[in-house]
Amino acid sequence: MGVGAVLNSSDPIKKTNQQRALPGLSADALSLLSHGCVSVAGVQLSGLTAAQHLVEAGVGKLCLIDEDPKALSSAYKALGFSQTEILCRAWKIDGHDADSIFAECDVVIDGLINWQDKLLASDVCMQIGKPLVHAGGSGFRYQLFTMRPNRSACLRCAFPMAGIDDVPLQPPEHKPIAAVLGMIGAWQAVETIKLIAKIGAIQGNELTKIDWLSGEFETIRGLDPRKDCPDCGRAPR
Ligand SMILES: [Zn+2]
Repeated sequence: MGVGAVLNSSDPIKKTNQQRALPGLSADALSLLSHGCVSVAGVQLSGLTAAQHLVEAGVGKLCLIDEDPKALSSAYKALGFSQTEILCRAWKIDGHDADSIFAECDVVIDGLINWQDKLLASDVCMQIGKPLVHAGGSGFRYQLFTMRPNRSACLRCAFPMAGIDDVPLQPPEHKPIAAVLGMIGAWQAVETIKLIAKIGAIQGNELTKIDWLSGEFETIRGLDPRKDCPDCGRAPR
């Protein structure tokens, strides 16, 4: 093999490395991501996986929130060193301080355990106009819903509209399945990347139910804001 052949081979290798860095995202999208800020509310279920993917994608700032300081500490260690600025806040969501805590972020990820906390997060995000990437469920069955103020019903309205009437008051008794949570967290990260980088389609009024045991996926459409609702019907414009 001559010298020329060796030199010519450098171009494809360089391209391959660039593609491995982050396929599918343009320079503009990467720039938007690098300036994006995401609050991850709850890091004990899908939230940590979502955070790991967002660090990998180059999100500028992550605010990790959890009521358990030990969970926060282990999540922080799991994320390792990166370009992403990572803040940790030991805090249980409530209706008083959440607006100021979520105020600086672009998107909130729902990695919360308690359903009342999830509903509170929905209330606050609607009030201050922040998208909420919700996931909820247990075992092998989950639902995912990217809630966008002015385009989406709030969680309190969306659940009954989607036939989810039995919202549990207590956390699930069964041990979560890490493989399922990993897929849920990755889904939430993708939705968040799309919102921050302003790419792809997010209708905001579609909820997806997934049952990995039966292999069924169901998308419920038409979850629009309800005019008679004090949360989604009066979201800030
Ligand atoms: Zn509502």
